[in-house]
Amino acid sequence: MHKKIQIMTQVIAKHNQSPITTFNNLKCKECGAEYELQAIHVCELCFGPLEVTYDYSGLCSQVTRESIASGPNSIWRYRQFLPVASDHPIDVGTGMTPLVFSQRLARRLGLKNLYIKNDAVNMPTLSFKDRVVSVALTRARELGFTTVSCASTGNLANSTAAIAAHAGLDCYVFIPADLEAGKVIGSLIYSPTLMAVEGNYDQVNRLCSEIANTYGWGFVNINLRPYYSEGSKTLGFEVAEQLGWKLPDHIVAPLASGSLFTKIYKGFHEFVKVGLVEDKAVRFSGAQAEGCSPIAQAFKRGMDFIQPVKPKTIAKSIAIGNPADGIYATEIARKTGGNIESVTDQEIIEGMKLLAETEGIFTETAGGTTIAVLKKLVESGKIDSEETTVVYITGNGLKTQEAVQGYIGEALTIEAKLDSFERKLERSRTLGRLEWQQVLV
Ligand SMILES: *Cc1c(COP(=O)(O)O)cnc(C)c1O
Ligand SMILES: [Zn+2]
Repeated sequence: MHKKIQIMTQVIAKHNQSPITTFNNLKCKECGAEYELQAIHVCELCFGPLEVTYDYSGLCSQVTRESIASGPNSIWRYRQFLPVASDHPIDVGTGMTPLVFSQRLARRLGLKNLYIKNDAVNMPTLSFKDRVVSVALTRARELGFTTVSCASTGNLANSTAAIAAHAGLDCYVFIPADLEAGKVIGSLIYSPTLMAVEGNYDQVNRLCSEIANTYGWGFVNINLRPYYSEGSKTLGFEVAEQLGWKLPDHIVAPLASGSLFTKIYKGFHEFVKVGLVEDKAVRFSGAQAEGCSPIAQAFKRGMDFIQPVKPKTIAKSIAIGNPADGIYATEIARKTGGNIESVTDQEIIEGMKLLAETEGIFTETAGGTTIAVLKKLVESGKIDSEETTVVYITGNGLKTQEAVQGYIGEALTIEAKLDSFERKLERSRTLGRLEWQQVLV
């Protein structure tokens, strides 16, 4: 493998090739029918989902570890693996978020090799959705769209509104009406047209499918979905690169539609296919909230279809009752020897607090879900303490403050006087001691 990479470097040095387009067409995941690279997402023959295919031998001759490492400090360093033709993709600094080697959380859980991929600080809107939207809007522009849109559980609306603003595209976003204030304001600030639909995400999505058919807008996760979803592969690429061009042993990621999960898998495989990393068995484990866990239920019962549910959980960003890629996610978890687990809302809050208190990372409910599932998998012996495990934190806690209200401490209000401070300090210390004694008995 190393020899191959050296040869590829020489070839590029010799010919100084400029990048060529490496994506070929759209292919149905179910029946294999092929389509031109247009704004379509379902197969006309069997209604299966369409996926972008690439010329991997062409890719092999263009891409090396060095060429990637010398690229932009964003997802666009993996440009050749993304379905865009433009030499000037929309680059708002998305990607290359920290991969943190965990000390304190790892010790608390009894793990020796735990890493946290921290997309709570992804740019520009603090969730992994900035990755998929950067790709989708670049492609939307190439396909001639001037109006872009999405059906969102919150984070996608934030990303679409922000990156559309940056690119000068008209923007309409659709969300369920009951979202957290941080998600609503986090969209409105960019001045899109925001439609708050009285219904759950699955109803929003159905409505948007109808609108997409009649209005000719580019819906990032509907008619542009094959391009959009490819952006999630960068969460696989980055982890491999940040681990020193190695794959981990085990990953734990949250599941909403299941797309992110399947694309991390695709990303790892593409890096193996073009010789950038050595092949290795990676176990894939997924996390859902018990109040919306159709994929976890299908996994546990060994079903080969997804039974849709009505979501009821504080983890709103991952509350999709009828997940489009759910069945593919169960297949990956099964064939890699992973698991798909769900946790209660109480455990989700505890997961958010645990990550904050041990690592200084404030994640949203989806991240709390993932940490709680990680803990559950360790406690039930489904993650080995020696395994190199990567847990994906996909969103920021400042956007879901409602979830932890009443479960965290309070500010101690004092007068601007030293004696007021000292009285309060003494009282809080006594209180702290009392609480600690209660824990001990
Ligand atoms: C959308 C989202 C996910 C999962 O997305 P899918 O690709 O639909 O599975 C995970 N975490 C957060 C914070 C999200 O917003
Ligand atoms: Zn088909």
